[in-house]
Amino acid sequence: MTSTPAISIRDVVKRYAPAGGEAKLALKGVSFDVPEGGIFGLLGPNGAGKSTLINIMAGLVNKTSGAIDIWGFDIDRDMRNAKRSIGIVPQEIVFDPFFTPFEVLEIQAGLYGIAKPLRRSEELLRAVHLADKRDAYARTLSGGMKRRLLIAKALVHAPPVIVLDEPTAGVDVELRRQLWDLVTEMNREGATIVLTTHYLEEAEELCDRIAIINHGEVIANKPTRDLIGMAREKVVVLTLDRDLGQIPVDPSFCKSEKVGDRIVEITYDIDKANAGQVLAAVQAQGFAIVDVTTREADLEDVFVRLTSNPA
Ligand code: ADP
Ligand code: MG
Repeated sequence: MTSTPAISIRDVVKRYAPAGGEAKLALKGVSFDVPEGGIFGLLGPNGAGKSTLINIMAGLVNKTSGAIDIWGFDIDRDMRNAKRSIGIVPQEIVFDPFFTPFEVLEIQAGLYGIAKPLRRSEELLRAVHLADKRDAYARTLSGGMKRRLLIAKALVHAPPVIVLDEPTAGVDVELRRQLWDLVTEMNREGATIVLTTHYLEEAEELCDRIAIINHGEVIANKPTRDLIGMAREKVVVLTLDRDLGQIPVDPSFCKSEKVGDRIVEITYDIDKANAGQVLAAVQAQGFAIVDVTTREADLEDVFVRLTSNPA
């Protein structure tokens, strides 16, 4: 890769030292690049440091040390241009309850010095399916509508990089789908997207590259496909010819589990066995196999393995 990354994060440390509270090292020297043009997932459990990192990029939290470039602009030396290059959708929803969606977008455009004729408030409201709420008070919007308004607000200055901090935490299935579509659409139109999430399937579905952060440290950073490839386990699901009295076991199995009267799920390590050997071991114990399916390990397996090390 030769092009300048959309975001470059180098050795960022954040130490929270609340007055009277206990100091907390939330980021312990985080480094990674977000390549231009993709959907980058920052995946990690609650408390990992995702929002801290996003809030540093937004200029809401001061880092303790390290450096960040956004679209080639150093946030310490050139916050103004860095800010113009990024649109951040925060995790927490905050609005003045007495403004309407249209006003929220107009005020935001004003903050960026965008002249009236160049503003895109109507277009943005349509894009997030809020055109019919143009003049409603923010306090009357549902949670999902507020979240979509926050996205529109982050897009007002047409930034090339868009960051969404847990956009789908606590939203229902339908809205989650809608938000996924919106993210994909923004990316198709050319925006580089960064998305934080603690939902594995979300990162797996949307992101072409994923960094996993845990206890303030990046523990993996790879194309999604390679990350899933790190799961060294596979699962075969066998339907047997009769009800299972005892579950077949063999030293080559990592795990065998009864999931139905005649169905057993066997997990094996692909470095130590193959599907043929698993089937042979089951047959050797007197079972006839009626049906076989295999399942790839998913990101969950990788994630559990990588994050199970205690801090
Ligand atoms: P995530 O977004 O991944 O859930 P956060 O960045 O919100 O994680 O939090 C990372 C760690 O920093 C947590 O242990 C959290 O309690 C702590 N933390 C976050 N904000 C503050 C703050 N303002 N003061 C002190 N500690 C904080
Ligand atoms: Mg967070």
